[in-house]
Amino acid sequence: MHRRVAIIGGGAAAAALLGELLERQPPQTLHLDWYTGGGTPARGVAYATRSDRHLLNVRAASMGMFAGKPQGFLDFVQREDPSVAGTDFLPRRRYGDYLEAEVARALALGKVHGHDVQIVPFAADAVVPEADGVTVFRGEEGRRVDAAVLAIGALPTQPLAGVDAGALASGRYVVDPWPLLAAPPAAAPAHVAVIGLGLTAADVLLELAARWPATRFTAISRHGLLPEPHLRSTALPSGDSAELIEAMLDAPEVRRWLHLLREAIAQEEDWRSVLDSLRPHTPTLWAALSPEQRRRFQRHARWAWERARHRMPPLVAEGLAALEQAGRLHRQRGHVHRVEPDGDGLRLELHPHGGGAHELLHADLVVQSVGMDFDVARTPHPLMRQLVVNRHVLPDPLGLGCQATPQGRLLHEGGAWPRLFAIGSLLRGTLWESTAMPEIRQQARAVADQLLAD
Ligand SMILES: Cc1cc2nc3c(=O)[nH]c(=O)nc-3n(C[C@H](O)[C@H](O)[C@H](O)COP(=O)(O)OP(=O)(O)OC[C@H]3O[C@@H](n4cnc5c(N)ncnc54)[C@H](O)[C@@H]3O)c2cc1C
Repeated sequence: MHRRVAIIGGGAAAAALLGELLERQPPQTLHLDWYTGGGTPARGVAYATRSDRHLLNVRAASMGMFAGKPQGFLDFVQREDPSVAGTDFLPRRRYGDYLEAEVARALALGKVHGHDVQIVPFAADAVVPEADGVTVFRGEEGRRVDAAVLAIGALPTQPLAGVDAGALASGRYVVDPWPLLAAPPAAAPAHVAVIGLGLTAADVLLELAARWPATRFTAISRHGLLPEPHLRSTALPSGDSAELIEAMLDAPEVRRWLHLLREAIAQEEDWRSVLDSLRPHTPTLWAALSPEQRRRFQRHARWAWERARHRMPPLVAEGLAALEQAGRLHRQRGHVHRVEPDGDGLRLELHPHGGGAHELLHADLVVQSVGMDFDVARTPHPLMRQLVVNRHVLPDPLGLGCQATPQGRLLHEGGAWPRLFAIGSLLRGTLWESTAMPEIRQQARAVADQLLAD
């Protein structure tokens, strides 16, 4: 058993691991250093929002923090409001409350059992893994531990290629939307361009449209389409998906898989049930694809997968439809090729998908809302840069985090580190679906099993 463990990251993934370790009441004393990176521990990026317009995109009954208690969140909210249903999509703010409460409970339990948890409210700057331990640095000060777990979430967002330095300097181009949403300026811009049309863009549009009731929005993406909406109630697959999974594993090729999925969907009342039935099998399916097939998936199917797999709660879909009907939101197809200063605002040069004449668009404010970044080879994130530059970890070839074993042990040129683990976004290239709580809590359990094993 590893008794001295560093947990690096201040979000829900780190909270889930901390909970797993303390909840199990291991026989020997644990010494945990939890580097939370500032911010309120456990909330991370997704659950730090205080807006009730920002909803979970997973139903309440599936959002438990512990793999053994998937209903934990539902139990928590029902204690206060028994009318909440497991199928509801609740505000993410409430989920942050739940995470904080679970962490407080785990810390109290740990104290009773004599475990020692140091909360370090700073970022870990460097990590040096070795065969028999790991040293974690904050500034010049290094602390040796038996094992370390990276739970750092998505990497900091970078401005898109083609965004002019003048546009960035103008303050009218917003690279990270979350600080803006937390405190939008009182003076409302007349026209806002939002780059992206995924779940982050949906949050941006609903929040800013409510705060700035006279503002018009243009949301731009390659296909101009929003994510698919969830149904109000869940649709269960009529049969067992085992046959479909078996057929997919027999022929691990993207084109064949799309064919099989179309066939399976044709037999169901709703396509969502087929996609949802794949969820527990996603890591196995992803592992079955060759590197070339993974690349094909990324190039040709990723966009459609994301739209169908990561869906909008019905209320969010209705809010956006109302904005469109009121003429306040216009969706535009295109690729943003260039953004530069233009008088009091910015000019966007849009190239249509598949070629054709470009269009120009003037906006008073541009909000980049393109979702998460996972590319450790190109990130300015200090810890990941240090790990990559020193070749302690290997970037995933598709830019999806780090190479790792399916159990979360990070790889270097000589094999898997015995004592350096990751959970969450960094495992995207290994497991494909690795950013939502239903997957993260399983990873937290698997890593806790390895840390506490004799
Ligand atoms: C807007 C949004 C909405 C989402 N909605 C849902 C949802 O409804 N349901 C769902 O299941 N999933 C949702 N997700 C997915 C979400 O990623 C996970 O649910 C979960 O929050 C991931 O937690 P995390 O700890 O891996 O990452 P994060 O929340 O990103 O937390 C990582 C933390 O680590 C800190 N950190 C970074 N580097 C260091 C360092 N060197 N040292 C110390 N700390 C560091 C960061 O500052 C951050 O606080 C959503 C994601 C986003 C962005």
